[in-house]
Amino acid sequence: MRYIDLHTHSTASDGTYTPSELVRYASEKELAAIALTDHDTLDGVAEAKAAGEKYGVRVIAGAEFSTVYEKISLHIVGLFLPENSKRISERLEYMKNARLTRNEKMLANLREEGIEITMEELKENFPDRIISRAHIAQLMQKKGCVGSKNEAFDRYIGDKCKAYVEKESLTPEETVGLIKEAGGVSVWAHPLLCKLSDKNTEKMAERLKTYGLDAIEAYYPTHKPADTKYIKTIAQKYGLGLSGGSDFHGSIKPGLDLGTGYGDLAVPYEVLENIENKLKK
Ligand code: AMP
Ligand code: MN
Ligand code: MN
Ligand code: MN
Repeated sequence: MRYIDLHTHSTASDGTYTPSELVRYASEKELAAIALTDHDTLDGVAEAKAAGEKYGVRVIAGAEFSTVYEKISLHIVGLFLPENSKRISERLEYMKNARLTRNEKMLANLREEGIEITMEELKENFPDRIISRAHIAQLMQKKGCVGSKNEAFDRYIGDKCKAYVEKESLTPEETVGLIKEAGGVSVWAHPLLCKLSDKNTEKMAERLKTYGLDAIEAYYPTHKPADTKYIKTIAQKYGLGLSGGSDFHGSIKPGLDLGTGYGDLAVPYEVLENIENKLKK
């Protein structure tokens, strides 16, 4: 049986493997295909594709879009994205700039709390990255401002903390539309991490389907067999396809491995074939 991983991150966002290292690792793990799905960027895709040719791993161009629907944070993975879609690039560029402004505000807030971190330090430590709170926390720890990244979130930059600034986000409707217009496949990523009631999970799946959503992530490292089964039932009920992957980030998510997640994840190649069939329709 051949296996795949349709949800992975590289250094183009907050992963610790470069796109090439990630693809080489996928070949070591004997994965037949991976999708590179960095947060709000396609910047790593060209490198990953080139590495895919070299190591004999099929690489799908993707991105994971952070969206918000009525204060609920929803992640939508786009697969089979063209790298030259003007509309997607424009939107991602806008989001990147919005992040810069937000990071500046968070650093100013931290300064008020007596923590001195500059944009220059962030850029120096994390060149060519989309800089998120995960990076700010890492730097706070490195500089000894906090004992751990968790402390950074608990005391300063977590959602309800003093230095936190809300992120500008796309709506899921716009995101699903953008992906569809570009000829890609849209996936509701890790639906259970939204921690909605069963009723609201279904309502959301139904709503996303009306926007044109193609698939839902049924295979995910934190899923128990019953969870996967539950998501499959929802997919069936609302006419959605299935996707799945590890959400691999390298060493920032210890114990979570490419392809196999926490040990028992296995996404058959067939999942990718079914998604491709959706594209052909
Ligand atoms: P951002 O997109 O800038 O809001 O940052 C989100 C990232 O921060 C996530 O991808 C996580 O890696 C990390 N993160 C968010 N909340 C926490 C938390 N409570 N503890 C540790 N990491 C977190
Ligand atoms: Mn991440
Ligand atoms: Mn996510
Ligand atoms: Mn992810």
